[in-house]
Amino acid sequence: MEQTGMLIDGRSITADDVTKVLNPATNHVIAEVARASGDDVDRAVQVAHNRFQTWKRSKTTERRDALRRLADLIRRDQERLARLESDNVGKPIAAARGEIGAVAATFDYYAGAVDKFHGQTIPTKADGTLLTFREPLGVCGLIVPWNFPMLILSWKVAPALAMGNTVVVKPAEVTPLSALALAGLALEAGFPPGVFNVTPGKGSVAGEALVHHPLVRKVAFTGSTEVGTRIMQSAAEGIKRVSLELGGKSANVVFADADMDTCIESSIWAVYDNAGQDCCSRSRILVERPAFDEFVDRFAERTKMIRLGDPADEATEMGPLITSQHRDTVEGYLRAGDEEGAVRVCGGVRPGGDLEAGNFLTPAVYVNVTPDMRIMQEEIFGPVVAIVPFDTEQEAVELANDSDYGLSGSLWTRDIGRALRFVREFETGMISVNSSSSVHIEAPFGGVKKSGIGREQGMAALEHYSEFKTVFIADN
Ligand code: NAP
Ligand code: MG
Repeated sequence: MEQTGMLIDGRSITADDVTKVLNPATNHVIAEVARASGDDVDRAVQVAHNRFQTWKRSKTTERRDALRRLADLIRRDQERLARLESDNVGKPIAAARGEIGAVAATFDYYAGAVDKFHGQTIPTKADGTLLTFREPLGVCGLIVPWNFPMLILSWKVAPALAMGNTVVVKPAEVTPLSALALAGLALEAGFPPGVFNVTPGKGSVAGEALVHHPLVRKVAFTGSTEVGTRIMQSAAEGIKRVSLELGGKSANVVFADADMDTCIESSIWAVYDNAGQDCCSRSRILVERPAFDEFVDRFAERTKMIRLGDPADEATEMGPLITSQHRDTVEGYLRAGDEEGAVRVCGGVRPGGDLEAGNFLTPAVYVNVTPDMRIMQEEIFGPVVAIVPFDTEQEAVELANDSDYGLSGSLWTRDIGRALRFVREFETGMISVNSSSSVHIEAPFGGVKKSGIGREQGMAALEHYSEFKTVFIADN
């Protein structure tokens, strides 16, 4: 079995205390990973802080070339990394390959961005020259979840390093392997030791230590709204910068004039991709009444055909949930849906046979759902969808916005005027029309309301990993 240390100052450091990492499709142990203590995190932050004093002055070409080499190394190792992520997260292998490709593309993008994000010369009434610099912040603490462990990390680490920051990463306890693999490749790509450190371990220990460390200047977090709230409170003590990418309960709004074939296939994956463990999951589908019955029938038929199976099998469409505890949580929502009077059309069953040992759950469709029900309001983070009819455009807007969250969303209609009216009214960070895609490396990604603060991806991310310095130079 693989024994893996934490990565501090370019060295793998073992610990007596280890986390047993499981494959969620079998619940077999696939690796033992060192668990960082508060002291380990302190050491990593000190190293990153010391390294920052030189890395902040690195040439743009040095950072650009290292980011570019890292993208190339990720492509070189795509199959190995995809298998690692598939084994650790339970992702179908084909999807994992796609994600690793997107990780490489993220490093490519920020390699190109290094010398394209800069300050300004500002016209002034004063006798002199007014300038702004964009400077790196220092040590950034990056706390990432288990659903897209390497991809979500890349959205943080690539812009952070591009700007000249150093990082300490706390991966999710259950999925530390790909972050360690990425940090190893970063060394090979030429990033100096200590620029990119990884301290795996528990959120309550390693995560807390990172958030509270006085030398950490910024915390970037993706995960639950509950932990995000705590992080923001803790960061207040040191006036640390925070960016938070939290949960969602995104709406998928379908008008009767939509291209139904495309809409249904796309809507299926908009909620069930990654077994529903996706912050952008469109888990509330709102359908205009004349199309409602047909939509529900066809959606449920397709749902029943989804191939659950071994994530290593190329034909598998859906893998297991991340842990048996998380499956219990999702099943708790199924019970709530049943008890509150919603009608379960299909799914929500643990498959037997070969899949019994894993954390599998068949995808579930609910109708007869009212807005106050828990399955309509809370993020389930599993393969569960509620489908609700509406009669008017105004009602659809109200239903779509009836959520504490506002991360993404979709709209299906061929009426361009309606689409433009709707996208303006939709309280969300991202919306796709006649599509389910939310992730575009070139554009800001993030939410409104309780879905978070700040944006990742695009040039917007660089704003969150830099600070203005305003300089005035008198003419005299
Ligand atoms: P979580 O607790 O928010 O975990 C996210 C990350 O934060 C993990 O690395 C976690 O470490 C760490 N963490 C936990 N407590 C912390 C603390 N007090 N201080 C600093 N870091 C801390 O999420 P979860 O418990 O895995 O999942 C719960 C729910 O969160 C899900 O059901 C879903 O609704 C939501 N979620 C959303 C996203 C998203 O993409 N927005 C991703 C994951 C989960 P540990 O791994 O050790 O706990
Ligand atoms: Mg948690």
